[in-house]
Amino acid sequence: MPTDEPGASRGGPDGVRVGCPRCPAPVAELGDGRWSCPDHGIVVPLWRPVVSSYDEFAAHLLRVGPLFPTFLPWPLGPGWTVSDFAAVVAEGDTAHATMACVSGTSQLDGPVDVMVISEEPGTGFGARVAGIAAPDDPERLDPGHEVGDGPPPVRVRVDQYPVGLWPVSVSARPGEWDRSVLAGEAGGRWLWLILRPASAILLLRDEWILRDISATGPQLVALPFGGPAPSW
Ligand SMILES: [Zn+2]
Repeated sequence: MPTDEPGASRGGPDGVRVGCPRCPAPVAELGDGRWSCPDHGIVVPLWRPVVSSYDEFAAHLLRVGPLFPTFLPWPLGPGWTVSDFAAVVAEGDTAHATMACVSGTSQLDGPVDVMVISEEPGTGFGARVAGIAAPDDPERLDPGHEVGDGPPPVRVRVDQYPVGLWPVSVSARPGEWDRSVLAGEAGGRWLWLILRPASAILLLRDEWILRDISATGPQLVALPFGGPAPSW
């Protein structure tokens, strides 16, 4: 499928873009449900809506299916919105990763983005969003040895269970995003938490709850969607 911008577009300007989970290069549809990235070869495609909306989120949950979580910090603070989400999944198959982002403002940090990613090992999507998949270190697809090293400095709750999170070191080159990256393990998958700006990590408290929205049902209607999606 020829494209004039990264990611093939489906469903018009308000639809969903298809891309590579590991890089922004445009992917080509091979015609048999497979997608190819010029840098990474055959990839499980990444689906990201052009605009965050209720309809697109419903489509996201349908695409992901009931066996893979999409986590959001819960409840959302006043004025916060679901500004972005994405899934790495082949049509008709089990998902490899999901991401959801909530955006709002805090008194200390101003505009804040909180991205939550659940992914199977080796996917490399969390590393890309976290900005740690440096070109000189293409093998770093998963959180490093930091995870599990000593007691976790941060704990969140995932479905009533405490989950430890460890800071993941990120490069701090000029032009890099100002962010904090945390990672742990939940349900046999990597759990990434990416906060921008980096100082927003101070918002994290032990009682932070990550809720699997795929199990939420009608309450979805009450979720506020929209706002500027973060770049990644
Ligand atoms: Zn790629």
